[in-house]
Amino acid sequence: MPPLVSSSDSLTQRLACSGLRATPQREIVYQLLLERPDHPTADELFARVKAKMPTISLATVYNCLEALVQCALVKQVNFEREPTRYCSNLAEHAHFIDSATGRIIDIAMPPAYLAHLKEALPPGFTMDDVELNFRGTAAPEALGNTATTRSGPIPA
Ligand SMILES: [Zn+2]
Repeated sequence: MPPLVSSSDSLTQRLACSGLRATPQREIVYQLLLERPDHPTADELFARVKAKMPTISLATVYNCLEALVQCALVKQVNFEREPTRYCSNLAEHAHFIDSATGRIIDIAMPPAYLAHLKEALPPGFTMDDVELNFRGTAAPEALGNTATTRSGPIPA
């Protein structure tokens, strides 16, 4: 069987850094997060994984996600009171929440923007992390330019 993840070496290495093994379950969960980076919830991801691996349980999907978050391959994203979502885009980015469709779109954040944001902090405040969410509507024709709408294989 061919490897499930084109970047499986990197998955193996990253998991090993956290003392974890790259199991077929972890690989498929990671692969599906890379394939459709639309910030699914664990339940949504479970449905996708189950279509490919019918014997997998929701608890296993949660365990896989926990392992992937632990070794920083996947980020947890929380919007207000919604269930936790998962994001495989490790580049600095903001989220745009389309209020019409509920879609969550990654918006690249150039380092210069982040540096600018830091300048808003009063003296003595140090930023470890920043989460930036935009809410609004995205024109359908504008969605072709975003990472979340890409289709086909993910470049290695
Ligand atoms: Zn994201």
